[in-house]
Amino acid sequence: MPEKRIYNFNPGPAALPLPVLEEIQKELLNYRGSGMSVMEISHRSSWFENILNDAIERTQRLLGLDERFHVLFIQGGASLQFAMIPMNFLPEGKSADYVNTGTWSTKAIKEAEIQNKPHHVIASSEDRDFAYIPENIQFNKDAAFVHITSNNTIKGTQWHKFPDTGSVPIISDMSSDIFSRQLDINKFAMIYGGAQKNIGPSGICMAIIRDDMFKLIPEGLPSMLDYNTFLKKKSLYNTPPTFSIYTVQLVLKWIEETVGGLAAMEQRNQEKANILYDYIDSSDFYKGTADKESRSLMNITFRLPNEDLEKKFIGEAADSGLGGLKGHRSVGGCRASVYNAMSIEGVKALVEFMKKFEKANK
Ligand SMILES: *Cc1c(COP(=O)(O)O)cnc(C)c1O
Repeated sequence: MPEKRIYNFNPGPAALPLPVLEEIQKELLNYRGSGMSVMEISHRSSWFENILNDAIERTQRLLGLDERFHVLFIQGGASLQFAMIPMNFLPEGKSADYVNTGTWSTKAIKEAEIQNKPHHVIASSEDRDFAYIPENIQFNKDAAFVHITSNNTIKGTQWHKFPDTGSVPIISDMSSDIFSRQLDINKFAMIYGGAQKNIGPSGICMAIIRDDMFKLIPEGLPSMLDYNTFLKKKSLYNTPPTFSIYTVQLVLKWIEETVGGLAAMEQRNQEKANILYDYIDSSDFYKGTADKESRSLMNITFRLPNEDLEKKFIGEAADSGLGGLKGHRSVGGCRASVYNAMSIEGVKALVEFMKKFEKANK
């Protein structure tokens, strides 16, 4: 049992910034003079209204959103968005395009399939086990939308440049890289992400949707599956997960005020990834699994010479206070998730451990 906090490389739920956890701890029993915990106040109170508004305003500032974009908070994780997107934005007579870059893209496609919604997989990197991001994709001019996954959490790849699809709306699942780098929101009709990787705890998903998309929504959807409900009721149609939203607000405040915004966040994340990749590239003991030009700044996937050594590596790392380095159960190997809250110090500690382990086991 570790007595102190470890360096947490878990893929999600993932590390949260320590100052945020300390702030939560400080005001947990009595939120800002309310005499109640933030978990005990009404979602219709002015305390919570301020939390929600502040989270939305920080999102608008950090991403440079203009009035065309609406920030919604929805439960059900990114997984529910996989189903809601074709349900809401794929009208009769239209078809949607999907780019398949891994496990999460595949799950998004499956939800269109389940609903018998016309769709095409216009590009895929499945031929090489999703080790790269496809290029030179032919987009259909009359597709209802194109769906991509900006960062592939399990395979360790990331779009470093977003495609130009002309007038076809792009929708991106950004669950594992939202608020980790600067973003030209003007390219997108919708972005969304579960909070539990970069911006908070599990239980809430942020969806940012452009105005014109709401006109595509058919009549008669169940209220909780209709984006218009969340738009019209400002994400307060029913009781939202208030504690999760509160934590997201504090993380966004940390990004804005302590880190210094998304340019600074991106620089820090780039530096962390460089430290790890430079070492992996220089070693013939560890081997990265993703193509260099496609690899992720958030999820760094690598293998050791054999599975026994990988098991030993993950175990000994955990004993040394470096947790969560096991690759996803579907792919094996090792993965260091270095989201926003992971410090440069933590990444350096991991590299030091990797060097020591290599020396002892080569
Ligand atoms: C984690 C993850 C998901 C699933 O999110 P849930 O909140 O568990 O539904 C979807 N897409 C990506 C890219 C992810 O990393």
